[in-house]
Amino acid sequence: MRGCTLFQPWLEITTVSNCNIDCSYCPQHIFQENYHGCKTLTFNSFKIALSNVPKHVALHFSGFAEPFLNPQCIDMIEYAYAQGYKIILFSTLVGLKSKDVKRLSHCNPEVTLHLPDNLGNAKIPLTQAYRDTLTAAIKQLRISTFYIMNERFITNERAGSCANTQERHLRGWLFCEKLYVPQFVMLPNCDVVLCCMDFGLKHPLGNLASQSWLDITRSAEYQRVCTNRFKTKGDILCRRCAWASANFRTRYYIKRVVQRYQAKQCIEQYRKK
Ligand code: SF4
Ligand code: SF4
Repeated sequence: MRGCTLFQPWLEITTVSNCNIDCSYCPQHIFQENYHGCKTLTFNSFKIALSNVPKHVALHFSGFAEPFLNPQCIDMIEYAYAQGYKIILFSTLVGLKSKDVKRLSHCNPEVTLHLPDNLGNAKIPLTQAYRDTLTAAIKQLRISTFYIMNERFITNERAGSCANTQERHLRGWLFCEKLYVPQFVMLPNCDVVLCCMDFGLKHPLGNLASQSWLDITRSAEYQRVCTNRFKTKGDILCRRCAWASANFRTRYYIKRVVQRYQAKQCIEQYRKK
């Protein structure tokens, strides 16, 4: 799913609690049912949380919602970049104004775009404002790849949370890089959960408004999940997750290599136009 180094520690920032893009593959409703904090991450809370995150941790603006649905997202990105953080962005661009693309490009983000699809799975409004922002982004940003939720879309199943996904219960030892290198998700109230699959908030690890990154990596819950990878069974989310299945990963990467190559060609063609 990510266009950046697999073993890079990162923090995904969820800037709002309600993503109205409402993609059919996305288990948004599970997040809504389980999250009871504030709806929007404030700039002030963001700054406090960031003061607890070391600089080698990349900031991944994505999490469980479209980041630009929060109008202060661009300010947060600029602030984080000025503090010395690497910026990664996974976005539909909905909510970003075309005039702010330049500001974004100065933060040198590594961008993965989520584009509209012919099936209407992602409900991205195709307004003139959206088209202007997308055109500016293609011209000015470092776009590493894109996703389209069409017939060729490969869902990562979100640990069984997406509709019509195969039920899994992995037994034995399991591997996931996120159990070696933390890639947590922060919610608008600064609570932190295990990873981008944890839409149900099964593994709450702490809160960055009052705890340091180190506290959270040493939390009893994160350590419990990490230790379970060497056991034969357990109730952790990873045992329901396709990402921990070597079989799934191999097939996923093979298909994505081809898709990424085609995406790069496509971006180049649009740029030339
Ligand atoms: S834009 Fe992303 S977070 Fe929002 S509904 Fe679609 S997949 Fe989910
Ligand atoms: S195996 Fe899945 S649920 Fe577990 S840490 Fe990795 S991505 Fe998250």
